[in-house]
Amino acid sequence: MIDSAQIAAVIEAAESLAALEEARVRLLGKKGEISSLMKEIGAMAPADRATFGQKVNALRDEAQSRLDARKAILETRAEEERLAAGWIDVTAPNPASRHIGRFHPITLLLEEVIDHFTGLGFSVASGPEIEDEFHNFDALNIPKDHPARDVWDTFYTTEREIPRTHTSSVQIRTLMSQKPPLRIIAPGRVFRNETIDATHHASFNQVEGLLVDKHVSVAHLKHTLETLVAKIMGRPVPVRFRPAFYPFVEPGLDLDAQCVFCEGRGCSVCKHQGWIELIPGGLVHPRVFEFCGLDPHEWQGFAFGMGFDRMVMMRYGIDDIRRLYDGKLQLVRQF
Ligand SMILES: [Zn+2]
Repeated sequence: MIDSAQIAAVIEAAESLAALEEARVRLLGKKGEISSLMKEIGAMAPADRATFGQKVNALRDEAQSRLDARKAILETRAEEERLAAGWIDVTAPNPASRHIGRFHPITLLLEEVIDHFTGLGFSVASGPEIEDEFHNFDALNIPKDHPARDVWDTFYTTEREIPRTHTSSVQIRTLMSQKPPLRIIAPGRVFRNETIDATHHASFNQVEGLLVDKHVSVAHLKHTLETLVAKIMGRPVPVRFRPAFYPFVEPGLDLDAQCVFCEGRGCSVCKHQGWIELIPGGLVHPRVFEFCGLDPHEWQGFAFGMGFDRMVMMRYGIDDIRRLYDGKLQLVRQF
């Protein structure tokens, strides 16, 4: 006859609710071990039936209460496991929205150009985007009422402040605040009252360069620009220099690079010239030195100001300047 210890062993061995149900059937089911005992009563002497019946009832009650207790334990355990498996960390980042940021191509190329020039001993200078006429025009040898001023399609505020038309204004601020010899580049936004199309924008980037020292010649400028173009294009590119007029340089020149799209054969990008006008520059005009309180007999220098967006477009094969500024992520995600 099954005893109390055996009942306990059967029930405590159940490690799941399903196993516990099996234990219940084994003990208390219709054909279970305890139920089967009751059937033996009929074969007993009447005098023994009461005592035997009480024993069996006690075993059945014990089995039932042990089953109930075990069931409570297993249910609690199952609930804990369910909670642990389904636990959600509401502070964890959503893997579906984990985009990695990209740098804009202007930033990428600018970092390269800054790295190139700092390697040559240049430092990075900056100036305000809203300028006055002195720094934007007068000190650059572009006097009021001089026709040269018309070249720059200038915005004016009602207070005659100027969203700077070129980064050349930083030349003036540098020459008036630092003692030469000096070498700076000044990247920054400039603003022109231009009709916006594939190659023109009302707001674009320039990188200004200025070197002031003794015995500076066009040869220094030529070498600097040649190595710059090779750096930006990732390979040596044939360049040529043409005389040009800018009021703040003498002599003034334009650097043309051989068209990288057609290798000089002529295409729509270079307007079938085989060359693309890239960087205007020249030797700092003596009048500019005088405006800034420097002796032009003592100091010489070269300066250039490149339209940086055109560089970015040539480097990365972007054919419309508006794509650099429309803020669409399709562009930056390619880099
Ligand atoms: Zn071409």
